[in-house]
Amino acid sequence: MGRVLDATPVLPPREEAVEDALGRVLAADVHTRAPLPPFDHATMDGYAVRATDLAGSLLLPVVGESKAGISPPPLATRSAMRIFTGAPLPGGADTVVMQEDVVAEGGVVRFPRIPDRGANVRRRGEDIGAGEVALARGIVLGPAHLSLLASLDLARVGVVASPRVLVLPTGDELRRAGTPERPGSIPESNGVAIASMARRLGATTELVPTAGDDAAGLDRALSDALPRADVLVTIGGVSVGDHDLVRPALERAGVELAFYKVRMKPGKPLTLGRHAGGLVLGLPGNPVSAMVTFGLFGSLILRKMAGRDARHTTARARLGAPVRHKAGRRELVRAVLDGGVASPLANQASGAVLAMARANALVSVPEDVGDLAAGTDVDVYRFEAIGL
Ligand code: AMP
Ligand code: MG
Repeated sequence: MGRVLDATPVLPPREEAVEDALGRVLAADVHTRAPLPPFDHATMDGYAVRATDLAGSLLLPVVGESKAGISPPPLATRSAMRIFTGAPLPGGADTVVMQEDVVAEGGVVRFPRIPDRGANVRRRGEDIGAGEVALARGIVLGPAHLSLLASLDLARVGVVASPRVLVLPTGDELRRAGTPERPGSIPESNGVAIASMARRLGATTELVPTAGDDAAGLDRALSDALPRADVLVTIGGVSVGDHDLVRPALERAGVELAFYKVRMKPGKPLTLGRHAGGLVLGLPGNPVSAMVTFGLFGSLILRKMAGRDARHTTARARLGAPVRHKAGRRELVRAVLDGGVASPLANQASGAVLAMARANALVSVPEDVGDLAAGTDVDVYRFEAIGL
């Protein structure tokens, strides 16, 4: 995997309008330029006063008013100013008394008691001062983060790149799901899986029309897709069968190919290619192999491209049932993870899409071990950690 990642470029971060940045990953720490809130203001409708003015008398004349969006004159000594929620506190005032607590009559207000100094006022910088870190890089921007950015007076924000992933299924037997059956055909089902995984991993995705097992069709599909992709993911046609035409087509299209023998089940040699505009990842066509390979390798490639930490997060779990395993290659076993126990599903065939849909984790069975007994501690990849 190290070599695959070495071949993976990091895309530069980009600026996005705050309103378009939901779900994007913050590229750099955001520092405040001004304090938040930017000025002292009332949190209630009422009267702005200097609390000490009320020590002498609880009766004060009302002089002037402060409304939201307007800058008020300073508070005259020994007076109160009418003030509304969100309005700036006049200079000299330090406290707001709720209108419900006073009796106002004929331009004079009677206060019930000496208020606590600072009551019903939000002070400048109370949330955060100028020049501090308001949001740390790496967080996934949610609605409250976007609101904070807007509060900080920012219209744009630097987010990590969203790699553009194009997904190209190949195979003469494939037809669009829901279209009329023809003998020997099967619905194309990997495209939506890989494109959705890529989207979950932060990519911008496009599922392009399936190419048949013929050189001319593949050439056309590649010349259309390659220039538009940071990562082109082809599905199927990369084993050594007579009809596996994808690798030669990639070479004709100018892709420099590298193969990585991955001693992993399910999964075949991972085909990786490089071209001027980005990477090509050639996945095996078996649905489980395609999803597992993309989950393990594609996820790291996309993370690295986006400038994120390109490492897997695994969890530890206990096996809920024994696993039969022949030492020699690592195996990824579809399992249901619940409460720290990973229970392998019965059908582990590489085409078994039902087991894939019922699982929520992959148990990693190391290369060098034999059968594992129930209760053995294992590493698991939770589906959501690998885009599944
Ligand atoms: P291949 O890697 O092209 O030899 O395909 C291996 C197996 O996966 C074959 O049984 C194919 O029919 C199946 N397959 C390949 N691509 C897809 C796809 N996009 N959707 C569903 N099944 C596929
Ligand atoms: Mg095929």
